[in-house]
Amino acid sequence: MKYRIGHGYDIHRLVPGRPLILGGVRFATDYGLDGHSDADCLTHAICDALLGAAGLPDIGHFFPNTDPAYKNIDSQLLLRRVVAEITARGFTIANIDASVIAEKPKIYPHLAAMKAALAQSTGLLPAEIGLKATTNEGVDDLGRGLAIAAHAVALLSRA
Ligand code: MG
Repeated sequence: MKYRIGHGYDIHRLVPGRPLILGGVRFATDYGLDGHSDADCLTHAICDALLGAAGLPDIGHFFPNTDPAYKNIDSQLLLRRVVAEITARGFTIANIDASVIAEKPKIYPHLAAMKAALAQSTGLLPAEIGLKATTNEGVDDLGRGLAIAAHAVALLSRA
């Protein structure tokens, strides 16, 4: 069995009047993440971790932010496509681990729902997905609540 690890990072600005979607879960806020797609930075970081582990180009290569087909698209659809790309190359996802950095809103109460949504999209069990939320302790623009960022790692195996 051959194992491959991958890392992903993403950040999007918080703006008024956009829906806030993280890990496929919609938050009840009057602000959200700015971007071409639904701007779900957690799901984007996970996509890049999976693609990186498979030695494939990043999410921007597969889903260019200049393509109107991806305007406001549900990032769970992008994640499903990424899983299909790596599965087609013989890889199986062993596990994913990710952290969200957000000063607001409180992420912790939604972690279980986010895990469930990500498990649906990846075909993993919720127990195979690690998910944490932290703040930036008031430091820098993340700490001022101007953006939300996410880091992810993924382990793939191939027989
Ligand atoms: Mg992104």
